[in-house]
Amino acid sequence: MLLSRYPRVSLAHLPTPLEYLPRLTKYLNGPNIYVKRDDCTGLGTGGNKTRKLEFLIADAIEKKADVIITQGAVQSNHARQTAAAAAKVGMKCELVFEKRVTDASAAYMESGNVFLDKLFGANIREVENGSDMNMEMDNISSDLKEKGMNPYIIPGGGSNPIGALGYVDCVLELIRQANSMDVVIDKIIHATGSAGTQAGIVVGAKALNSKIPVLGIGVNANKEKQEEKVFKLACELCDFLGMSGLVEREDVIANCDYVGDGYGVPTDEMNAAILTLARQEGLLFDPVYSGKGLAGMIDLINKGQLKKDENIVFIHTGGSAGLFAYHDLLKT
Ligand SMILES: *Cc1c(COP(=O)(O)O)cnc(C)c1O
Repeated sequence: MLLSRYPRVSLAHLPTPLEYLPRLTKYLNGPNIYVKRDDCTGLGTGGNKTRKLEFLIADAIEKKADVIITQGAVQSNHARQTAAAAAKVGMKCELVFEKRVTDASAAYMESGNVFLDKLFGANIREVENGSDMNMEMDNISSDLKEKGMNPYIIPGGGSNPIGALGYVDCVLELIRQANSMDVVIDKIIHATGSAGTQAGIVVGAKALNSKIPVLGIGVNANKEKQEEKVFKLACELCDFLGMSGLVEREDVIANCDYVGDGYGVPTDEMNAAILTLARQEGLLFDPVYSGKGLAGMIDLINKGQLKKDENIVFIHTGGSAGLFAYHDLLKT
């Protein structure tokens, strides 16, 4: 597995640090908790999509694209990092937002990621919840082609085999760090949504024969749907890398008990988890993804499902820009 075979542009600050969280570990009286700081990838306040975009934007450049089209929720971190990446390489950026959160506040519609999207010069269109987002992107693509432009469509979350290469690379990086720090990782935990992050991690961890189980904490779908989505992409990624059959269905595990009322809808546990990390470690997590992922990890620790002598790596996938869209929900 030689990732340098694939076109790549440098967008992220790598490697991201692997940090031990002594105060949180003590506070929770559970396993040793490490955090992989993918919130610090650097581009436009950082996050996990930047690793994927290194491969996706390189593919767009190879195909001589001049405009990137992508989609997500209004407060999409993926859209924000894509807008920044497009600006950096001198391409235009068209964003289609699905109004997934009903009764959203003005802050949700305008602040946080949306403010940054506009700052990066992206064009924004909003469509109703339940719209066929791929069709919306295809329509924009056809319009742009008629105008003589050469659009490149990035799927929601950057989750296809090319984007997921970014998380194969993250595992290579993480294992190297664990080896040099003499840390035996017992489990990797992270928030899972559009599946590219978990698919890349599962494939990388398996390809290296690391024997580290990976747990995705879901933020929208139910367990079966989420696991199927990750497994399907992991299989496509294996085919793409010429390692068909490497990943088995049981390698993909998602826990979707912490979604609450739905995507982007806050839960009390998420609120509490964000406050705990801010006050114990001075770290920022987000309400939609990493906060719910953390809430899941903390609950599993409280239930004794993660043991005191284990080393857990929580991959911090970023998203703190979204906090500014939810400021009224974090009051204590
Ligand atoms: C997109 C995102 C995730 C989920 O990653 P996927 O690859 O879509 O599963 C997790 N955390 C944050 C902050 C994100 O923006």
